[in-house]
Amino acid sequence: MTDLFLHNTLSRKKERFEPIEAARVRMYVCGPTVYDFAHIGNARPVVVFDTLYRLLKKLYPQVTYVRNITDVDDKIMARAKETGEPIESITTRTTKAFHDDMGALGALPPDIEPRATQYIRQMIELCELLIEKKHAYVAEGHVLFSVPSMPDYGKLSRRSRDELIAGARVDVAPYKKDPADFVLWKPSAEDQVGWDSPWGRGRPGWHIECSAMSKEHLGITFDIHGGGLDLIFPHHENEIAQSSCAHDGAPLSRYWVHNGFLTVNGEKMSKSLGNFFTVRELLAEAPGEALRLSLLNGHYRQPLDFTKDAMQKAKNTLDRWYGALRNARDVEAETLDPPHDFMLALLDDLNTPQAIAHIHEMVNELNKSTDAKERKRLKSEILSCGYYLGLLLQPIEDWFKWQPEGQGGLSDKEIEDHIAARLNARKTKNFAEADRIRDVLSDAGIVLEDSAGRTIWRRR
Ligand code: AMP
Ligand code: ZN
Repeated sequence: MTDLFLHNTLSRKKERFEPIEAARVRMYVCGPTVYDFAHIGNARPVVVFDTLYRLLKKLYPQVTYVRNITDVDDKIMARAKETGEPIESITTRTTKAFHDDMGALGALPPDIEPRATQYIRQMIELCELLIEKKHAYVAEGHVLFSVPSMPDYGKLSRRSRDELIAGARVDVAPYKKDPADFVLWKPSAEDQVGWDSPWGRGRPGWHIECSAMSKEHLGITFDIHGGGLDLIFPHHENEIAQSSCAHDGAPLSRYWVHNGFLTVNGEKMSKSLGNFFTVRELLAEAPGEALRLSLLNGHYRQPLDFTKDAMQKAKNTLDRWYGALRNARDVEAETLDPPHDFMLALLDDLNTPQAIAHIHEMVNELNKSTDAKERKRLKSEILSCGYYLGLLLQPIEDWFKWQPEGQGGLSDKEIEDHIAARLNARKTKNFAEADRIRDVLSDAGIVLEDSAGRTIWRRR
């Protein structure tokens, strides 16, 4: 096996990946703020880092993947105020929906999923450490990070000081010593969530949450930190500032990996622009694997324009792939490693479009091959490639039974009853009746295939 190469945002280069400990990889990915359903743009980092996680698990004996849940945030508080639903109920309900939706996209659960509200003590301790080291100061119930106290602040985003100030869109609050300073802790009013702290009752800023949770579970310096492009500034820049300054300059993460945006007509998909589809609504129209494939069809660092047409095309591709596997039912798959070319594509900064192209070739070969030994190898290899991409994970017959929500249509049982009746009609040589049943099924969108004395079916 050759080495893994990853594009590191810190150096803006593809670098050979070497973990700090030879046999263990530690990865942190910023997770969702739980106040609403995830949109398909939010799913992109989940699917990308799940694919990286699957690959790392193959390459290293131990991988610790931490992805947090931000369950304290002003957006959550605003939602609670607007709807009257208690915060706890919003965050619990949304976290569950997130798990269900990401599960449907074939994402493995991370090893550890810390919730911010469970780490308030650690966040306060980090603030205290930063104050002690003169990287932070207290003003009017706030704790603020002093940006001028860190000479190399901005090295991840490579912004000039003016850009930093403009980009941070920080209010030039009177209590800030420098306009670029950012909040580590802020006071809470009586009716707002808050925790007691040395600076009065308050709540953490967003950035400090990830610094505290990653330190707790992965230590001061770990291997990979991931998230979407929009997090580079200010979120990740500020995580670096907090964590490095609290630990005498030790880096927070050695590799910074960022996925590009999912776009709609070239614009970033986002809640604020209103140009989004939730994963939930898309799952009613296409199977989770089709959604996942449509996300992996582009290289993770490139922008990817999302359309329902692309989602349908991904579904058609999977129909072809599952169809080839189904036709190869004469041979049984065994556990095999994916072919070298396929692995090489993934090892090269997670080149999923190329990895997918290899699967296409293998599917074509499988469709053509008449040699049982070769068919067995191809079937096994296609399935193992699928595993690394989080695809082809369901029983083949289940894939063909999927139907869009609210379609009515015939149930699996009704279809199977019709097929049994058709078989009986044929046995008694009542071919007119058998054909009639086939037509009924066909009109209902069910395609029959007779082979080797069996009838199999799929939804069109
Ligand atoms: P948020 O809940 O907005 O903090 O986003 C959660 C994750 O989704 C972060 O890693 C974001 O960078 C990522 N994200 C949000 N919108 C998009 C998008 N349109 N395309 C790709 N990633 C996104
Ligand atoms: Zn974070």
